[in-house]
Amino acid sequence: MKTRIVQVEEKNIDMEIIREAGEIIKAGGLVAFPTETVYGLGGDALNGASSGKIYAAKGRPSDNPLIIHIAGMEYLPRIVKRIPEEAYKLAGLYWPGPLTMIFEKADCVPLETTGGLATVAVRMPSNKAARALIEAAGGYVAAPSANLSGRPSPTMAKHVIEDMDGRIDMIIDGGEADIGLESTIVDLTGDGPVILRPGYVTREMLEDAVSGVAVDGTILGGDAAGAPKAPGMKYRHYAPRGSLVIVEGMQEKAAACINSRLKAHRQAGERTGVIATDETAALYQADSVKSLGRRSDEETIAKHLFQILREFDEEEIQFIYAESFDARGVGQAIMNRLLKAAGHQVIRQ
Ligand code: AMP
Ligand code: MG
Repeated sequence: MKTRIVQVEEKNIDMEIIREAGEIIKAGGLVAFPTETVYGLGGDALNGASSGKIYAAKGRPSDNPLIIHIAGMEYLPRIVKRIPEEAYKLAGLYWPGPLTMIFEKADCVPLETTGGLATVAVRMPSNKAARALIEAAGGYVAAPSANLSGRPSPTMAKHVIEDMDGRIDMIIDGGEADIGLESTIVDLTGDGPVILRPGYVTREMLEDAVSGVAVDGTILGGDAAGAPKAPGMKYRHYAPRGSLVIVEGMQEKAAACINSRLKAHRQAGERTGVIATDETAALYQADSVKSLGRRSDEETIAKHLFQILREFDEEEIQFIYAESFDARGVGQAIMNRLLKAAGHQVIRQ
């Protein structure tokens, strides 16, 4: 398949391109598009065959449900059975934005889209080009991250091209994603709101709208922590091709541990990388040392994580060591992604 690559600026949206992209989705095709979290791979959410194509293009297990993207609150009632009071409160503060809510699904939502579940995940992105596309596509766009299953999520069009060129109809290049981590997922189908996947919208932020927000116990735990409620969270994810190990502990001790390991790899002729911060990058002797940003600037760290994991692949780095981050606030989402990328390989110093 020939993939058409087009450019759309969020500040000056080319509506003719958006209309064409919408027609592709309406006709059952797939279009990758920018959102404020990561790039999405969009298909018609109400067409089970389109969802089937999304799983095939990504190589994604078909029990891993897709998030339906909508462009306005008026689209929500059609695809859910009931809108709990908490949903209005959360939407009031965080929609459009990087928050996904889980509802009981209405009959019109095909089981292909929900991975066989009776519930459905819904998000309203803040990226204006994304919302224009969703409207042009008929209002309901199923869109997981636009990467091959298992690879780091794409934060730039070039990442989507690496993974999806030749597999989908169109890629809309809208520049670098603002946030760079996937949405926070909150389940509203149980007794109280439960965070199934941490993201930019933290538990503290959710509690500004609703009380008693719980966190699924598997979010930072290893495989022993049980089965996560978001089916996608059970798969190894975001993984670079090389081995990735996180080193926890005080800065000096962690750096000494990483450097001694780097030395052993060097002696064995292996290519090494380190995920560091501006404050620590100069401490390491590796083939490739990458800083995520200033340690205190969580938003910048979040934005660069997936991009850096992909860069190590390009540089054919075999052994990567990462510093650890404080798992509070956005740090919880950062550590959740990093731990998954590392397959939970952690050294404590
Ligand atoms: P992605 O679209 O790649 O960000 O992945 C979507 C995530 O949302 C996966 O981890 C899914 O398991 C999760 N998800 C989607 N729908 C549901 C649902 N109905 N219940 C629980 N988790 C869901
Ligand atoms: Mg994904």
